[in-house]
Amino acid sequence: MKSEKKIAVFGAGISGLATAHWLTQKGYDVTVFDSAGKAGGSMQTVFEEGYLVDFGPNSGLETTPLIAKLAEDVGMKNEMIYANEQANKRYILKNEKLLPLPTGPGALLKSSIFTIGGKFRVAFEPFVGKSDDGYYQSLYSFVERRLGKQFADYVIDPFVSGVYAGDPNKLSVQSAFPKVFALEQKYGGLIKGMIKGAKERKKSSETSKQSAKMFAFKNGMQSFPEAIAKSLGNKVKLSSKVVKVIDVDYGKRILYDNPDGSHAELEVDVIVSTIPASSTAELFDEIDNNLPPKLNQIVYPPVMVIYAGYDFSQIKRKLDGFGFLIPSKEQKNFLGAIWSSTIFPNRAPDGKASFTIFTGGIRNQKILKQTEDETIAYALKDFKEVMGISGEPEYLSFKLWPKAIPQYNLGYIEIEKYCDEFETKNPGLFLSGNFRGGISVGDCVKNSELVTNKVIDYMNNKYGANE
Ligand SMILES: Cc1cc2nc3c(=O)[nH]c(=O)nc-3n(C[C@H](O)[C@H](O)[C@H](O)COP(=O)(O)OP(=O)(O)OC[C@H]3O[C@@H](n4cnc5c(N)ncnc54)[C@H](O)[C@@H]3O)c2cc1C
Repeated sequence: MKSEKKIAVFGAGISGLATAHWLTQKGYDVTVFDSAGKAGGSMQTVFEEGYLVDFGPNSGLETTPLIAKLAEDVGMKNEMIYANEQANKRYILKNEKLLPLPTGPGALLKSSIFTIGGKFRVAFEPFVGKSDDGYYQSLYSFVERRLGKQFADYVIDPFVSGVYAGDPNKLSVQSAFPKVFALEQKYGGLIKGMIKGAKERKKSSETSKQSAKMFAFKNGMQSFPEAIAKSLGNKVKLSSKVVKVIDVDYGKRILYDNPDGSHAELEVDVIVSTIPASSTAELFDEIDNNLPPKLNQIVYPPVMVIYAGYDFSQIKRKLDGFGFLIPSKEQKNFLGAIWSSTIFPNRAPDGKASFTIFTGGIRNQKILKQTEDETIAYALKDFKEVMGISGEPEYLSFKLWPKAIPQYNLGYIEIEKYCDEFETKNPGLFLSGNFRGGISVGDCVKNSELVTNKVIDYMNNKYGANE
């Protein structure tokens, strides 16, 4: 049954569009606002000179069946592609060499990433007790305590660069990696927890990040949000920036800019905001002036994504993996690179290989002070040395994200609590997006279902069931 009640969703990234999709399916009248001219938010794909370039996420992990369900609903199921087997192999840079990241106990024993002492320290993990200061631990101190310094420096540090472009000394283990934290809380250790947790997961529909399949779309990641937006039709207002939300007697009034620059307003019953934290703070400051000081604490470091295409004859080494990550101890001018054309088809023309190179992040915020040409030159020089590539790239493009990814740093728990409080104090307002509930595409989709259920509960309690 169709509801008369109006819902506004801010943001046409994957979080906002997925939420709008589920709510529309339930019969609600939804309008999505986005300041950008295209749907997708961080998902941005470009086709140029035979290369398919993803400047945001290159892929996602299928940690929830909701991704395939959403793809099916919007006619994208056949466009979903999965990474080939080689993508399971990842490398870590150590002393100028790319060494395979061990994927199991046997490989760990043979690995030259760790010394014998480092390997023993990993094996000792089941005998390490819980920490008393559980809630306020950084990821680094948690991993160093449980698995040793070598593991923290050569596995976790580069891994965190790859996922968050973040600093493991600042990230809160509980907030940024809640499942890892929970393994210690629930089972007393990571190895014990992984064994026991796998049995429990079998009973649920969720898949762990370690065992989830890596997916993308034939025509790039942005084709997914674009298809969701298309299915929502004129419910999605692009080039429509929301500038303020104010309280009115019977709901909320949204002030927004039309694509032609004229100002407009709309009264709605419910708002789901999925835009970045600092923009959320600005929009709701008249409703709650305590929200901005909380949300503005969430740091978004800059990241530059460089996409380079080379002829195979320029590349010395075998491209037999996902790519590589660089521990901060190795001091390079980039964070790591994905061997894009190895993982998915049609990312580069025949005979060419393409690479997505990441630079910046919390470690290297100076990229904002350099010229773009300098940042590219430093990163490419180091990248070519590591890879043994000769000559200049045949294709080169880049995108600078001045505020790339929200960091779930120490203290984030208080921010999260305040967001819950804000929702309780302001019934009908819901804060979502990648600064709550996880940054990965899979987490954003999972979260879209959670927030949809919160909206439905609110609607049912206030106005009676809609179905
Ligand atoms: C470089 C990069 C690489 C990544 N790689 C991966 C990866 O490989 N795998 C993975 O799983 N995840 C990856 N991520 C993370 C993931 O892509 C994002 O966390 C996710 O796409 C965020 O989706 P979202 O909808 O929450 O937010 P966003 O995509 O940021 O969407 C927010 C939207 O809000 C709009 N907006 C902002 N202000 C306003 C306003 N005032 N009014 C209206 N609209 C507004 C913006 O235009 C934007 O479209 C990556 C992210 C980046 C930046």
